[in-house]
Amino acid sequence: MGLILELTHRCPLQCAYCSNPLTLDAPKSELGADEWKRVLDEAAALGVLQVHFSGGEPVARRDLVELVAHASGRGLYTNIITSGVLLTEAAMASLLAAGIDHIQLSFQDAEVAEADRLGGYRGGHAKKLEAAKRIREAGLPLTANFVVHRQNVDRVEAMIALGEALGADRIEIAHVQYYGWGLLNRSALLPMPDQLEHCTAAVQAARTRLKGVLTIDYVVPDYYAARPKACMGGWGKLFINVSPSGKALPCHAAETLQGFTFPSVRDQALADIWATSDAFTRFRGDSWMPDPCKSCDRREIDWGGCRCQALAIAGDAASVDPACALSPDHDLMRQAIDQARDASPALTPRRLAGV
Ligand code: SF4
Ligand code: SF4
Repeated sequence: MGLILELTHRCPLQCAYCSNPLTLDAPKSELGADEWKRVLDEAAALGVLQVHFSGGEPVARRDLVELVAHASGRGLYTNIITSGVLLTEAAMASLLAAGIDHIQLSFQDAEVAEADRLGGYRGGHAKKLEAAKRIREAGLPLTANFVVHRQNVDRVEAMIALGEALGADRIEIAHVQYYGWGLLNRSALLPMPDQLEHCTAAVQAARTRLKGVLTIDYVVPDYYAARPKACMGGWGKLFINVSPSGKALPCHAAETLQGFTFPSVRDQALADIWATSDAFTRFRGDSWMPDPCKSCDRREIDWGGCRCQALAIAGDAASVDPACALSPDHDLMRQAIDQARDASPALTPRRLAGV
């Protein structure tokens, strides 16, 4: 269904919750425009419907407009996932002319000083507000994405109000997913139980109030869940993610998995990677599942949860996702919340040079 192209790991922001890997791809390792175009051609031939240009910051790529035009010309639905700080009037006009279909704009907070602090970019929030205005003036659908955590979640009502004021068609309130830099900063970011309760109630109230006006997606933190989410809709089931240097991954966090060699789109066709590679087939379906997943009636709903989380928390990518209360490691999630309770709020910002 979807191809996620992480065009670059470069980004002017430094969000401490970024799900990019700790070792980011260097600019010189990035695929060139012709290589990305070939991947887009292969994706269209494979029957892919949507392409999401992501990063890092995709607008940092000088050839983004060319790539959007190429994807659009192949009949793919095009979406850009952006921080918005580089989305100038000229960039917006070029993207529109290239046939962009949708833009997802991320915000760090509704409160200016905090948003700039959390993004590590002074003046960033003001640029985002301008970008949102440009997107709406261009007549494009806008998703306003707010990543929430312990240091901003108490302002969730203000975030929803901001999304409404910007004329967003969809608001996404997404709790941090603890991979990459997010995992590194987990103790400073995990929300406390009363904060989660408040956030969930605020989202539910807003959904009721805004029914038929706009959609609010809500992504809850796995650490409070009793059952896991279907990560990427199932391993190797709906999406292909390509890293800046061309590694094909079943999800953006999969590079953390040891014992895998992820195929490169530089060496292998996308159709082969999808159909035959170990990386895409090892956890596809339910034949790989351990107990209790293999006899569980939710196995084709959540597909056993997230492999990266199973590795990060339980130390084994082939084990039950510890977010599931039926996992023998579920208690480790509770322990992480207890450890976070008194942890320092200091954040390690995401940097291209690594930790
Ligand atoms: S989460 Fe922040 S640092 Fe990471 S790519 Fe997005 S805007 Fe950049
Ligand atoms: S046991 Fe496995 S399949 Fe069942 S709910 Fe838990 S993770 Fe999902």
